Amino acid sequence: MLRIHGVSKRFVSRDKVVTAVEGVDFEIGAGEFVTMVGPSGCGKSTILNIMSGLMPPTEGAVEVDGEAIRGVTRQVGYVTQQPNLMPWRTLLENVVFPLEIAGVGKEERNRRAEELIGLVGLAGFEKSYPHEMSGGMRQRANIVRTMIYEPKVILMDEPFGPLDAQTRLVLQELLLKLWQRTGVTIVFITHDLHEAIGLGDRIVLLSARPGRVARVDKVPLARPRDIFRMHDSDGFRQLYDTLWVELENQVRGQDA
Ligand code: ADP
Ligand code: MG
Repeated sequence: MLRIHGVSKRFVSRDKVVTAVEGVDFEIGAGEFVTMVGPSGCGKSTILNIMSGLMPPTEGAVEVDGEAIRGVTRQVGYVTQQPNLMPWRTLLENVVFPLEIAGVGKEERNRRAEELIGLVGLAGFEKSYPHEMSGGMRQRANIVRTMIYEPKVILMDEPFGPLDAQTRLVLQELLLKLWQRTGVTIVFITHDLHEAIGLGDRIVLLSARPGRVARVDKVPLARPRDIFRMHDSDGFRQLYDTLWVELENQVRGQDA
């Protein structure tokens, strides 16, 4: 459904060329939840920027349902680490915004927004402004305002990075619930192996810069998963230990 083939990206600045990613190939099935892990600076955000159409690759291409991505499209949603809600708009007004732009009528857009707001446990906060909400609440709002226009694929770049450990677990659980309900395809970047295993159907491990696909593993855990308990299972531990050694090698080997 989503195909990345031969993707490389070089950044040229005044006096040097940085190859951020090189020869990245992988495919993602419809409705799949794929997580990507890799050391800091290995090109994770660069790959997502390319997948979102925000940035052209130096080489290679990205396709969604056989169609090449050339520029930003509503088929692909992007959830960044910073929620970037509009501070002058309430929660409801932020969430409906993409539908407003798309010309969806007020009644319809409010109905869809209220349903999603309820699903992520924010009912009652529709009239709150971003500064009146916690970091976790703002990130929930960021996720539903992307889901509301029903993109085929949602790209997420360390969306829970700035949150405390418990809030992260709550949001991970919530994200799995939303994913299972909507059937959307998700590509989720994290540097946290725990999170990558807990959420993903498959994990793509990237090498240190230039980022390449070092290995791809299937997560041997049944769904639905208990995010709060699954680290106790043997399947989780074995995969964690294997990937940790690999990740450690990549992290130690890098020049950052
Ligand atoms: P990650 O998200 O894995 O931490 P990034 O994709 O942000 O890594 O960056 C990968 C490499 O590409 C880094 O060395 C970074 O300095 C470089 N880089 C990223 N974006 C740019 C840019 N716009 N211009 C120049 N170099 C960049
Ligand atoms: Mg990044």
